[in-house]
Amino acid sequence: MISITKRFRTALIFQFLIYGLCAFGQVATAQSSIHQSIQARTDVIFDSLVEIRRDLHEYPEVSENEEMTSKKIEDYLLSLGLEVKSNIGGYGVVGILKGTKEGKRVAWRADMDAMSTDLPDVVDFKSKIEGVRHICGHDVHTTIGLGIANVLSSLKENLEGTVYFVFQPAEEMNKGARGMVADGLFELINPDEIYGLHMSPYPVGTIATKSANVYAHFTIMEIEYKASNDQDSLIDYTKEIMRSAQTYGPNAKFWNNENLFSPEFGVTSPNTIYKDYVALMSNFAIEESKGRVILRVLVDASNKEKLNEYSALIKNKIETSRYSEELISVKFNFENGMPVMETPMNDPELTDATMKSIYDIYGKQSIIPLYGVPPLQFSDDFARFQKFIPGVYYFLGGSNPDKGIVAMPHTPNFAVDEEAIKFGVNYFSSIIVERLKK
Ligand SMILES: [Zn+2]
Ligand SMILES: [Zn+2]
Repeated sequence: MISITKRFRTALIFQFLIYGLCAFGQVATAQSSIHQSIQARTDVIFDSLVEIRRDLHEYPEVSENEEMTSKKIEDYLLSLGLEVKSNIGGYGVVGILKGTKEGKRVAWRADMDAMSTDLPDVVDFKSKIEGVRHICGHDVHTTIGLGIANVLSSLKENLEGTVYFVFQPAEEMNKGARGMVADGLFELINPDEIYGLHMSPYPVGTIATKSANVYAHFTIMEIEYKASNDQDSLIDYTKEIMRSAQTYGPNAKFWNNENLFSPEFGVTSPNTIYKDYVALMSNFAIEESKGRVILRVLVDASNKEKLNEYSALIKNKIETSRYSEELISVKFNFENGMPVMETPMNDPELTDATMKSIYDIYGKQSIIPLYGVPPLQFSDDFARFQKFIPGVYYFLGGSNPDKGIVAMPHTPNFAVDEEAIKFGVNYFSSIIVERLKK
C-alpha cells in the first residue's frame, strides 16, 4: 500500500471502528472435498507459516533491497518443486506451478518490501534492522503467497491449469509492478487472471472488496495564472469556486473519520456517503513568483471520472469569469510525476464470482462487500498488473479487538492477528482452484 502525500495529509490519520463489523470463525457450508483438503493442508503448515512470517518481520528490507527476502522466497518455492524465475524487475520472483493437465492460467501476486520508519515496533518479534519495519504487512502477504503455493502444490494432482506466484518488490515506491512488467514479466508468464490482497483493519476472518476502484483517486490540482493587479481577489475567487464545487455527503458526516465504517453510511453500506464525491483534502498552497501565481490543493475523488469532471468544471468557471485572461492552466500535478495515482481496478465479473465462491464455501460472514472508497491517500501498484490482466484486489481482515489488534497499515500500532494467515491461505487457495475450473 502506497501513501505518498505525507506533506499534504491533514486530519485523516483515522481511528478505525471495527467493532460493529466483527465476524470471526468459519461456518462450513456445502464444500467439495478439494476445499476441505485446502483447509486440512493449511492447518498442517500453519505453525511453519507463522515462523516464516516472524522471520520476515525480524529481517525487513526496504523497497529495491529485498535481496534476502527474495532468496528465502526462491528457496521455499524450489523446495515445493516449482519452476522459479528470479531477479525480475529488481528482486522480483516468480514461481510456476503446473497442474496435471493443461488449463487456465491464474496468477497470485504478493508484495514483499518493508519501509523506513522510526516508529517503534509493537510486536514481540521486533524488527532487528534499525529504522526498517514491516508496517504495511507485506511480510504477511509474502507468507500467505508461500502458503498458497504450498497448499496448491500438495493438491497438484487435482489441478488443471497453471498457477503463477508473483512476488513483487518495491511496492511502497510504486515502482515494483512497473519494473517487473518492463523486465518482461508477461513474456515469462501469460495469466488469464490475476489476484492479490492487502492487509486491512477489517476483522480477521473476512475479505472485503468491490468492483472497479478500491481506493480513492487523488491528485494535486494546480491552477496557474499570470500575475494580476487584483491578485488577492483572484486567489479568493479560485478558492471559493473550488470549495463550492466539491460534492460529498452531508458535510459533518463525510469529514468525521469515525463514519468511514459506519454500518448506516460507511463504505460497507449500500447507502454509503463515500461514493460520487470530490473533496479538497488540504489547505491551498500559494506560490507567487516570476509574474505567475499558482494555487495547489490535494483533491480526492470517488472515481476518476468525478475527478476529471471537477477539473473541467473549474476550468470552465475560470474561463468564463473576469479572470479568464489571467488563466494559464488547470492541471494535475502529482509530485511523483504521475497525474493521478493509479488505483487497483477490479473486474466486475471476477469480483462477483470470487466473492460468491467465498460465500458458498466459507459462509456469509467471511465476505464484506464494499460500496464506497474512503477519502484517504492510499493506493497499490497492483493496479499496473490489472492494466494488462483482469483481476481482483482484496482487503484481508487483520484486526482483532479482543486481542487489541488494529491492522491499519502505516500507523504506529499496526499489527496483524496471525490467524489472518490461515484465512488468507484458505480463501485464496479456494478462489484460485475455483477460477482454474472455469
Ligand atoms: Zn502495503
Ligand atoms: Zn504501504
